[in-house]
Amino acid sequence: MNSSAKVSPVESAPALQPEVSVVIPVYNEAANLAPLWERLSRVMESLGRPWEVVFVDDGSTDRSPEILRAIAGAAWLRVRVVELARNFGQHAALLAGFRRCRGEMVVTLDADLQNPPEEIPKLLAALEAGNDVVGGWREERQDPLLRRVASRLHNRVTSAIVGVRMNDYGCMLRAYRRQIVDTVVQCDEKAAFIPALATSFAGRVAEVPVVHQRRAGGASKYNFLRLLNLSLNLITGFSLAPIQALSVAGLAVFALDVLLALALLAHRIIYGPQEEGALWVLFAVLFLFISFILLALGLIGEYIGRIYQEVRRRPTYLVRTVYGGEPPPPAD
Ligand code: UDP
Ligand code: MG
Repeated sequence: MNSSAKVSPVESAPALQPEVSVVIPVYNEAANLAPLWERLSRVMESLGRPWEVVFVDDGSTDRSPEILRAIAGAAWLRVRVVELARNFGQHAALLAGFRRCRGEMVVTLDADLQNPPEEIPKLLAALEAGNDVVGGWREERQDPLLRRVASRLHNRVTSAIVGVRMNDYGCMLRAYRRQIVDTVVQCDEKAAFIPALATSFAGRVAEVPVVHQRRAGGASKYNFLRLLNLSLNLITGFSLAPIQALSVAGLAVFALDVLLALALLAHRIIYGPQEEGALWVLFAVLFLFISFILLALGLIGEYIGRIYQEVRRRPTYLVRTVYGGEPPPPAD
C-alpha cells in the first residue's frame, strides 16, 4: 500500500511563524494517522490563522513513521515530525513536542481519535478568553468502567495535590499558552505528568466539555502497571505527603503513648500496684521509643523532601507581566 497517496496536500499559504501548534504523541498508531490528519488539517484550515502540527513518533514499531513522513511530505511547512530514538512514554513525547513547537497557543491531542480534532476551536476560544490552561473534560468517557472509576479517584487526588480543582486531568485534549509550555519545557522532568505540571503554573484555568470517542483503531498503550506508574509519578512529583505521613504517625503514637502513661499512673494511684503493671509500663516505654524512631524518620524525610524539591528546579513562581518604573508608551 502506498501511504502517501492517501494524504491530501494543504492549500493555504504556510506561515513561518504559526500562531497555533498542535502537538501529538504517536506510538504505533498506523491505523489512525491518515484519518487524523484528514480531520485535523480541515479543522486547522478553518481557523483562518497560521498553524502547525508537531507529531512526535515515540519509537513506533509499526508503519507510523512512514505515514508521518508522507504527511510531512504533503505539507512540509505545516508539519514537523520528531522521531524519538525509542519508546520513552507519552509524556516524554509531549515534552519533546513542546520543545519544538512555535505557536503562541499550543494544543495537545491523542493520535487515536479519541479526542475529536473538531473540538480544538472551542479550546482555543477559551484560551483567548484569558485562560492560561484549558482542559478538555470528557463528560461521557468511552473507556472501560474500571478505568473510569480509577480515573475519578485519580482526578480527586490530583486536584488535591496540585491545588487546582479539575474534573479531568487525564484528558489529553488541552490547550496551553506559550509561557506555560516554555515553563514546562524548562522543568525538563523525567517523570512528568504534563497536565498537572502545566496546571500548577497556571493562574487562570478553564475546563470545557469535549466529546470522547472510542479508539478508532489499534489498542490502548496503557495497562494497569503503566497507569499505576503514571499515578505514582504524579503523587511523588507533586506532594511530600507520603514522607510527611511518617512525622504525623510519630506524633500520633507519641500522643497515644502519653495517654497510656497517664492512664497507668491513674490506675496505680487509685488501685495501687498490680502484678501485671510492669508489663504495661514496658509497653508504654516501647511505644515511646517507636514514636521517637518515627519522628526521627519523619525529620530525615523532611530534609529529603526539601532536597527533592530543590533538585527538581521547578521555577518558584511565574511572572505574568511587569509594568511601571519607566515612562508609559505614548498613547496613539
Ligand atoms: N503514546 C505514546 N507513547 C506511549 C504510549 C502512548 O506516544 O508510550 C501515545 C499514543 O499513541 C496516543 C496517546 O499517547 O496518541 C494516548 O495513548 P492511548 O490512547 O494508548 O492511551 P489511553 O487513551 O488508553 O489513555
Ligand atoms: Mg486513547
